[in-house]
Amino acid sequence: MITVKSLNKYFGDLHVLKDINMEVDRGEVVVVIGPSGSGKTTLLRTLNILETPEEGEITIGSRFMNFARPIQKKQIVEFRKQTGMVFQNHNLFPHLTALENVMEGPVTVQKVAKSKAKKRASDILTKVGLGEKLNVYPHQLSGGQQQRVGIARALATGVEVILFDEPTSALDPELVGDVLDVMKELAEEGMTMVVVTHEMSFAEEVADRVLFMDQGEIVEEGSPEQIFHNTQRQRTQQFLKRIR
Ligand code: ADP
Repeated sequence: MITVKSLNKYFGDLHVLKDINMEVDRGEVVVVIGPSGSGKTTLLRTLNILETPEEGEITIGSRFMNFARPIQKKQIVEFRKQTGMVFQNHNLFPHLTALENVMEGPVTVQKVAKSKAKKRASDILTKVGLGEKLNVYPHQLSGGQQQRVGIARALATGVEVILFDEPTSALDPELVGDVLDVMKELAEEGMTMVVVTHEMSFAEEVADRVLFMDQGEIVEEGSPEQIFHNTQRQRTQQFLKRIR
């Protein structure tokens, strides 16, 4: 579903992504862990071309990008349509209700008829446990509920891949569980997911594969069992020791 080859990204002199290669199968859940500043968010944003790398190739689904060549805006727009992104701070429109927030992408980007988009948005919000909150505004929702609207938004356009950037790290601890439960359900339904998170128990339970990043490199990847319990790499061991 996703193939990344020799991806390199710089911010000025800072080499943030160093020759990243990765593959994600259809239906796979890949969790990216690593110290702050190691490039996790930049990697995720690059997959959605919110950041443009200097070198490398990304294939998602049927679309391919080679960043060594000039890229047209239209290509980026098309490429982005394949992935949904859920951010740390949900980025909802404050003046739109939960329902309107979820309808917005299908109606304005995909030109879906309003009545159809409304029905679908309502179904998706019900699925994420917000069937009672269709007509309320973001400020009337808890952080966890807002984040679930964010996930519903990502789902509404029918994407096959969802990229999660620390979806629970801005939430009060008691709100984290509901959001992780929705993510678990999506994983069980076969959604392809790349998740940057500090929730190691989620990674252990839900990830098919864990990538450990440090200083812009994928240092190690493997099953949760291998990374959390059997790593032979010193950098991975040191990171896990610090967070445990
Ligand atoms: P992580 O998600 O692992 O914490 P990031 O991808 O956010 O790491 O950041 C990787 C490095 O790139 C950090 O050193 C960070 O300061 C730097 N960085 C991130 N975004 C920018 C930017 N827009 N401009 C300059 N430097 C950036």
